[in-house]
Amino acid sequence: MTIHLKRGKEDSLRRFHPWIFSGAIQSIDGPEEEGALARVLTSEGEYIATGHWQVGSIAVRVLSFSDEPIDAAFWQQRLERALQVRQAIGVADNPANDTYRLVHGEGDHLPGLVVDIYGQTAVMQAHSVGMHCCRHEIAEALKNVMGARIDNIFYKSETTLPFKAELGQENGFLLGGSPENVAMENGLHFHIDWLRGQKTGFFVDQRDNRSLLEHYSAGRDVLNMFCYTGGFSVYALRGGARKVHSVDSSAKAVELVNANVALNFPADDRHQAFAEDAFRYLQQMPTGAYDLVILDPPAFAKHKDALRNALKGYTRLNARAFEKIRSGGILFTFSCSQAVSKEQFRTAVFTAAAMSGRKVRILHQLHQPADHPINIYHPEGEYLKGLVLHVE
Ligand code: SAH
Repeated sequence: MTIHLKRGKEDSLRRFHPWIFSGAIQSIDGPEEEGALARVLTSEGEYIATGHWQVGSIAVRVLSFSDEPIDAAFWQQRLERALQVRQAIGVADNPANDTYRLVHGEGDHLPGLVVDIYGQTAVMQAHSVGMHCCRHEIAEALKNVMGARIDNIFYKSETTLPFKAELGQENGFLLGGSPENVAMENGLHFHIDWLRGQKTGFFVDQRDNRSLLEHYSAGRDVLNMFCYTGGFSVYALRGGARKVHSVDSSAKAVELVNANVALNFPADDRHQAFAEDAFRYLQQMPTGAYDLVILDPPAFAKHKDALRNALKGYTRLNARAFEKIRSGGILFTFSCSQAVSKEQFRTAVFTAAAMSGRKVRILHQLHQPADHPINIYHPEGEYLKGLVLHVE
């Protein structure tokens, strides 16, 4: 199919922004098939991009700005480049680490595609109809590029594809089928539940921040709030924490954290996990019980319209932590809402600090790790932000 843009609507594409909004489209030639490849022309009829078309406000996700075929060689080359970046960062082909994000959508010039590597298994997720339609070709290229690094490719897109596209959504292996699901991150082991877990089964994006936490853990009493699989808890234990309490409202998460702690530190009585609502737990816990607190909540704002309430949520949550953390304590606080900017998050935390009246200093400003790269032409790809604060 061919898409003709309205006059002037090619400007953002000349700056390599990889999305075309439906309002920029003048006309479409050929059958309008969701997930199909579209050649995009300016109002002057000049070629400008090729991408996947689908119904919705983001109508085209650009795969290439040069007039090239999107074929096996294309997928292979993009995946090779993605792997080279992970090798350069030091997360791939590292004997102490086999957990990393190989493909981060726009950040790897593959909008709509996510691939996480867990040991010998790649978990692939399509966020666009086009990537879903190409899943078999991509899996083939992935197998070629990764070679002996992987034996299995698990495709998980049940929850990430647009509901209205009415695709036969599927979760299943495209290669191999091993149930072995223990992966290693910085020398620590984790069970990854890619089938039932959130996202691809693990929050790969907190790896560097967990490492930093490890260095603050010695002798501390740690509260890991919103623990999910317990990544931060396991690092805190290795870092020499005196005690670690993991809290999540989901009973399944509590099971996961207990299993992951047992995998690394069997019969370690420094750890306990609780299935509790965060706000209730923070309200009820005694003042001064902890001197290292992690707050890593789910995205409070999934869309721009939810922004005001999300900011209030971050303020309320952090205010509770500031009120209760022991003097000299360290707070690791995060937001993974893409709709909340770094500045807005910092203002929400500032407000919380001011409400508590505590003296607070920023020690580190955190973000997503290098295997979640941000395409400089697509600043929307920046989503994870965090602050490490010293509370007097
Ligand atoms: N810190 C985790 C990721 C957190 S994901 C990591 O490093 O892997 C967010 C978690 O918050 C989910 O496990 C979800 O079950 C939990 N959650 C959501 N709402 C909650 C609430 N009100 N109280 C406690 N936990 C909650």
